[in-house]
Formats: sequence, structure tokens, C-alpha cells
Amino acid sequence: MNRRNFLKLSLQVIAMSAVARTSQALTSLTPANVDVIIVGAGIAGISAARVLKAKGYRVLILEARNRIGGRIWTDNTLGTPLDLGASWIHGITNNPIKQLADQFKLKTLKTDYKANQIYKNDGAPITNAEEETLTNRFNAVYERVMEIQQKRLDDELVDISWQQALTEELAKENFSSIELSELYFSLNTEIEHEYNADLSELSLFNWDSSKNVNGEDHIFANGYGQVIENLVMDSKLTSDILTNQVVKSVNYGQKVVKVTTNKNVFSASAVLITLETPPRMWGRQYV
Ligand SMILES: Cc1cc2nc3c(=O)[nH]c(=O)nc-3n(C[C@H](O)[C@H](O)[C@H](O)COP(=O)(O)OP(=O)(O)OC[C@H]3O[C@@H](n4cnc5c(N)ncnc54)[C@H](O)[C@@H]3O)c2cc1C
Repeated sequence: MNRRNFLKLSLQVIAMSAVARTSQALTSLTPANVDVIIVGAGIAGISAARVLKAKGYRVLILEARNRIGGRIWTDNTLGTPLDLGASWIHGITNNPIKQLADQFKLKTLKTDYKANQIYKNDGAPITNAEEETLTNRFNAVYERVMEIQQKRLDDELVDISWQQALTEELAKENFSSIELSELYFSLNTEIEHEYNADLSELSLFNWDSSKNVNGEDHIFANGYGQVIENLVMDSKLTSDILTNQVVKSVNYGQKVVKVTTNKNVFSASAVLITLETPPRMWGRQYV
């Protein structure tokens, strides 16, 4: 069992209340005071603001939601911190997030991927032998899809989606409906979760271009949201963030850039946009 399966099966722990507090404690900013408008109060926007502010620039972060943190979101309504977005520091060796955790004295815990249990649809725990069968089936199909990838590259054929290659491979197999459902469970937890896209949206040639990280995977004992909270506090950014500001358009002039939200028009010398790009906008959409 690896992290990806674990991701599918685990509840994660966190603390969000402080982040929510931070997002509400806002004061108004006059646009004339601002050098750089940053769109998005996720970790990218907040980190950028931190760097710019340290260099003496006046920043304004515009965030569409009523909270900061973006895809880092710790919920505490169950009475225990629960990460609804990012949870893990993947590979703590030389990882800048781990360095921040240490700097802010945030407790992190090593993830033991063997300490989990998969359950079947009927609620019965999967046995070790069943898990091995499931893993072997996934590995075999995975390898054959990678062979299709290599052959297409060698033959200089056009790229296709992961799903298309899988469909080609499955046409040669005779899996039962249960086996297929188990296989898709593995594909979902191993690949779709990891790359935040359906197999039909993943390029067969470029789906796995991320760099490897080293070291153990850790989670935050009290939630990833603490990182956001500490970044904001450490750089005194609270009054530089406006929430509930949905940016609608950006217009570049000779000297100023105007950013229009659902509520106001802001101007500054520069704008930095830190939004998520949905997979279907990365390039061509596969079928
Ligand atoms: C379920 C899940 C699990 C994850 N697990 C992990 C993990 O374990 N480890 C890990 O390292 N990473 C994980 N990630 C990825 C990680 O959360 C993201 O890479 C990271 O948080 C992205 O930060 P960001 O600032 O680039 O983008 P975002 O956090 O998406 O920030 C963008 C911000 O822009 C705002 N915005 C969007 N449109 C507008 C607009 N028009 N006007 C104003 N504001 C706007 C959004 O509301 C958002 O707050 C996970 C992500 C998800 C969703």
C-alpha cells in the first residue's frame, strides 16, 4: 500500500479556525497605495506577497472566496482538524514546506503507509492476498500501457490520453466486472488522485512529468492550514488581503494595470495572477 491508496482511504486531520479568523480580519486598502495586486490567496499568492513585501513593495491580495488558503483548507468543525485539501509534505528532504514547518515550529508526523486497511464494497476488510492480487493486476496493466506509450513515441505517433491507451489494452483482456472495478479503484487512487485529472484528461506522453522528491512523507499534526496562517502572520499580511473579491478582468495600461472584481476596480503598477488552471485548459483535451 502506498501513499496514493492511503490518500483514497484516509481521513486527514487539521485545524482551520485560525485561517478563517485571518481571512475575516481585513481592513480596506486604497488602490493608490498598492504596487502589486496579487490575484488569489492560496499558498502561491501569499508566498509571492511575502517575498514582495520583504523587498519593500506594497501588495494587495484579492481573493474570490470568503477564506484564504485556496486548496489548503483545514476544517475543524468535527472537533478535530481535517485537511480537505493538501495534507502531505511529499518527501521532507530539502522540502521548502518542511523548512517552513520547522521555522514556524509546526509538528509534523511521518506517514506509515502500511498502517492502513482497505475495505471491500460489502464492508469486509481486504486480505493481504487480495491486496496483492489487486496490486499485481494494476502493475501488469500499467506496464502494458507504458509499453503502448513507448511504442507510440518510437513510431512518432500523436499523443493520446491515458484512457485511450487503457481502452486499447483492456480490449485484449477478459476481466470480470469485479476485476475491472478493482482495477479502476487502483487507477483512480494511483493516478487520477495524484494528477488531479481523469484518465481521459491525462496525456499519455506527459502525464508523469513531476520531479521525484526524497525523504519520508509527513502530515501536519494540526493541519496544513497552519502554514497559511503563519505565513500571513509572519509577514503581517492580514491587512493586505481582501476576500470575497472575484476578479473579473485585468486591463493593462501604459503605467497602471486595472483589476476589476465583482465589487471594485483596483489599480497598481503590476498584477500577479496565481490561479489554478483546470486540466482541460492545459492543452488539448483528450477523449
Ligand atoms: C484534495 C487535494 C489534495 C491535495 N493534497 C496535496 C498534498 O497532500 N500535498 C501537496 O503538496 N499538495 C496537495 N494538493 C495540491 C495543493 O493543495 C496545491 O498545489 C496548492 O495548494 C496550490 O496553491 P496555489 O496557491 O497555487 O493555488 P490555489 O490554492 O488554488 O489558490 C488560488 C486561489 O485563487 C482564488 N481564485 C480563483 N479564481 C479567482 C478569481 N477570479 N478572483 C480572485 N481569486 C480567485 C481561489 O479561490 C484560491 O484561493 C492537494 C490539492 C487538493 C485539491
